[in-house]
Amino acid sequence: MALSSGYMAGVPERLAAGRTLSFEYYPPAGAAARRGALLTATRLARRHPDFVSVTYGAGGGDRGRTREMVAHIAFGHVSGRHRCPVVPHLTCVGHTRAEIRGLLADHMEVGVGDLLALAGDPRPGEPPGDFRYAADLVEFVRTETDFSVGVAAFPEVHPDSPDRVADRRHLAAKLEMADFGITQFFFDSRDYRLMVDELSDLGCTTPVLAGVMPVTNPESVKRFAKMNGTRTPKELWNRLEAADADERLRIACDQAASMIADLVEMDVPGIHLYSLNVPEAVEGVLDRLGEGYFSTAGRPLGTGL
Ligand code: FAD
Repeated sequence: MALSSGYMAGVPERLAAGRTLSFEYYPPAGAAARRGALLTATRLARRHPDFVSVTYGAGGGDRGRTREMVAHIAFGHVSGRHRCPVVPHLTCVGHTRAEIRGLLADHMEVGVGDLLALAGDPRPGEPPGDFRYAADLVEFVRTETDFSVGVAAFPEVHPDSPDRVADRRHLAAKLEMADFGITQFFFDSRDYRLMVDELSDLGCTTPVLAGVMPVTNPESVKRFAKMNGTRTPKELWNRLEAADADERLRIACDQAASMIADLVEMDVPGIHLYSLNVPEAVEGVLDRLGEGYFSTAGRPLGTGL
């Protein structure tokens, strides 16, 4: 029998209501950093995200931290009166079916109703587990829960894909099984447009939110970009690397806000901001955009869908 999550209005309903705004957090190691991350989530709740997501084991991090941070936010301990769905990321490589079932039950217990289902990258020496591709996890989550399910999309093509055609074919098939997609970060909005057109040519119309990264830490972001196959514009990096911290924040927010404005022109269904747990970056971007970009703008606290 499928487990029931006691579903509150989740990501699909919010997407149906208009362009969404969401923030991604990661659960850091160490008590002080964890407290800092929760304070960031509390502070940014005032910006009325439609949902927030929490990464899972990215970079080899302790996976239990995701569950803890998700539980804190889901219980509203950190978001005060503005309660919004918290979307845990879940990667399947290296996990058994029983482990995934246990993780899903944990999330359900704290009222989670939406999940981002990912393959993840195998950790050195880790046994393969029961799942290979994200699509296998989506299928399992569908049979085990009534969660809405999101998946990852790579505008510049996933680095393991043998070619663009195969990448788009697998992506379209995966999105067909899902409720929504979220992209990897990218720095040229034309890559997003091209991906959406290619998916549409394959008959896939599942909404794909654009993942936007304000580059507050050029060194780390370049490392992530190398792993993801994301191109990093030389001119932007030259400016970021030459700047002091204040100037870097300004450049990062200007660049992200300008790209969001382009994406909104393309009628993007939602913007997912990779916060890297830096509240000033998210606030800087939103302040530059002003009102009218997202369906949440102006919605009073606590009156979420
Ligand atoms: P898949 O969809 O399985 O695709 C992986 C590769 O397999 C692609 O090349 C695809 O074309 C190919 N493929 C898919 N199906 C088939 C098939 N049937 N036959 C042959 N080839 C196939 N990682 C973390 O560890 N933790 C996180 O929290 C996390 N969050 C992320 C959030 C977002 C929004 C994004 C974009 C990525 C995130 N990642 C995270 C990274 C992600 O786990 C890795 O990039 C991983 O390598 C691919 O995951 P996927 O879900 O796209 O995999």
